[in-house]
Amino acid sequence: MLTNDSGLDALVIGGGFYGCTIAIYLNRHRGMGSIALIEQEASLMTRASYSNQARVHNGYHYPRSFTTAYRSRINLPHFVRDWPDAVKQDFTKLYAIARRNSKVNARQFERFCHQIGARIQLADTSLHSLFEPRLIESVFLVEEYAFDSTKLAAWGQGELKNCGIDVRFQTKVIDIVKARNGMLAVSLRHGNSEQTVLTRRIFNCTYSGLNRIGGDFPGTNASLKHEITEMALIKPPPALSKMGITVMDGPFFSIMPFPARDLHTFSHVRYTPHLSWEDQPSVDPYQRMDEYRHDTRVDRMVRDVARYLPAIQEAKYVDSLFEVKTVLVKNEVDDGRPILFEAHPNLPGCYSILGGKIDNIYDVLEKLDAETL
Ligand SMILES: Cc1cc2nc3c(=O)[nH]c(=O)nc-3n(C[C@H](O)[C@H](O)[C@H](O)COP(=O)(O)OP(=O)(O)OC[C@H]3O[C@@H](n4cnc5c(N)ncnc54)[C@H](O)[C@@H]3O)c2cc1C
Repeated sequence: MLTNDSGLDALVIGGGFYGCTIAIYLNRHRGMGSIALIEQEASLMTRASYSNQARVHNGYHYPRSFTTAYRSRINLPHFVRDWPDAVKQDFTKLYAIARRNSKVNARQFERFCHQIGARIQLADTSLHSLFEPRLIESVFLVEEYAFDSTKLAAWGQGELKNCGIDVRFQTKVIDIVKARNGMLAVSLRHGNSEQTVLTRRIFNCTYSGLNRIGGDFPGTNASLKHEITEMALIKPPPALSKMGITVMDGPFFSIMPFPARDLHTFSHVRYTPHLSWEDQPSVDPYQRMDEYRHDTRVDRMVRDVARYLPAIQEAKYVDSLFEVKTVLVKNEVDDGRPILFEAHPNLPGCYSILGGKIDNIYDVLEKLDAETL
């Protein structure tokens, strides 16, 4: 049983990277003693925090959003400092610019990297020769890393325990209502049993589930968009095995180490999103994902990418990660990834948080530092 009568200091909904890190922060930096973390799955960081491209962003990906690029530059060194064991650095990272249909050319990309202070140099001829020169204008050597989400999950598990945080798995938050003395009453469902818990604060870190909570919860002001995405997992051929490759900036592709399974993710701007919709009360993104047929599009990805990078034909397809990706509608145009951080004035003590990408945790913690909790 969770503590009930006097109420919890905080209840965090969602055991992804954001929920875990925020719960630990509340205990370590804000002195909260009674915290519960509620997760509907059977363990930590199994949803978006696991099924992603594992890129620790360093700005290169965002030539159309200077703010996101710049914040990534600031956050990456902090992430490497705080989670050194979870960061993989021992691979060669290339960004290549396509000659046609690219929203940036090589000169613009180089200038942008200088503006954000990100290291960039022309790749040597052996690296260049991996690409089809009629389709690729330039290839650059850059500095970008990958993270191992299983190591982040192990860290979260250990730290939540050290902080004495009560973690409940296979438990779903159904609704939140205002209760006496400024408290919030949260209904939880675990199997067939339901329980109500009182708390002074709530941190809604449910990513695709942000607006699926009932009762007095008002929903986010910002509009959300959901996509069902497929990241293929491949074993690359020897020529690509110690590499990460991204072709910018348009309907192109990425191949990134996926340390959690010692494979590479393979994604394509055209084929990775299978379907998308704007958030609406009647559609539960997790349910839509469960009902969706997981037919891989890896053949189409390989066919297109082989035109640019012939060696991809030698890659071995292993599996696909399907997951809902949730982003802010307002960033459709520039592909930026700011955080969503909303306090709900009609439900005092309740916050909704969407990170956007893993290193944005520092932007969230900065916001929390500024809050009187
Ligand atoms: C395909 C894809 C590629 C990506 N690539 C990158 C990348 O390369 N680099 C990067 O930095 N970021 C990337 N991201 C974004 C990154 O994965 C997310 O920003 C981050 O993982 C979000 O963490 P989170 O804790 O908010 O979400 P999650 O890890 O999804 O955690 C939310 C948790 O809340 C739980 N939950 C939901 N509703 C309820 C409820 N009602 N009750 C109880 N529990 C609930 C869910 O089960 C889930 O475990 C990518 C995302 C996707 C989907």
